[in-house]
Amino acid sequence: MSKLEIAPVKKLLAVFAHPDDESFICGGTLAKYASEGVEITLVSATRGEMGRRMGNPPYLNRESMAAARELELKQACESLGIQHLHFFDIRDKTVEFIEEDILISRIEEFIRDLNPEVVLTFHEKLGGHPDHCAIGKATTAAFRRVAGNDKALYFITFGEEMKRPERFGYSRSDVFKIDVRAHLEAKLASFRAHRCQTEIDEWVWLPDHEALQRFGGHEYFLRGNTGAIARDLHDLFLSAPG
Ligand SMILES: [Zn+2]
Repeated sequence: MSKLEIAPVKKLLAVFAHPDDESFICGGTLAKYASEGVEITLVSATRGEMGRRMGNPPYLNRESMAAARELELKQACESLGIQHLHFFDIRDKTVEFIEEDILISRIEEFIRDLNPEVVLTFHEKLGGHPDHCAIGKATTAAFRRVAGNDKALYFITFGEEMKRPERFGYSRSDVFKIDVRAHLEAKLASFRAHRCQTEIDEWVWLPDHEALQRFGGHEYFLRGNTGAIARDLHDLFLSAPG
């Protein structure tokens, strides 16, 4: 490629269940890739209106919650550098009851239109919440239908547990470890954007230098398809040399 040609923009699609999944689980990684110029699209299946936390002291109710959490998610996206946000308008806590084929087709459409190099979602068994598992399962099925092996699918994980992937039937070579130490300020800002969820967590509101110490320096992802095989375990986009 000559210097005059512009490199094509890399794209990442994240398909999650609730506002805050993106920030709490992999906010550092999203901020890192956004800062490197990757175009990031986030799909949130629901608006999280059934969340148990309603502010501290509580100032939301079931009626006002969806709009509040949508706004918070928009602010979190700004903090992380996520450019595009879409909702599937599914009612919170009901993702598992949506007809699977319809859900898969909607996600398929997104993958086809966007053509992202990387797709992130939940593992269908290790998601930790029925909505997470359901959206992960549908996204995995959609990815397998439309994406070729030049694309990579990853499952987000809950951090430190992936220090021992054998416990979940995976090996160390399935675990991607992303260094997010330079992006923890953005991650903290996204936590604070999800105010009604984090107000009760005192550490989030400590002075920055103290709050930042609560974050790990790395986020962990599981390989979701064979297209991710020949990849550098420290970069979701980069193919390993040789
Ligand atoms: Zn969630």
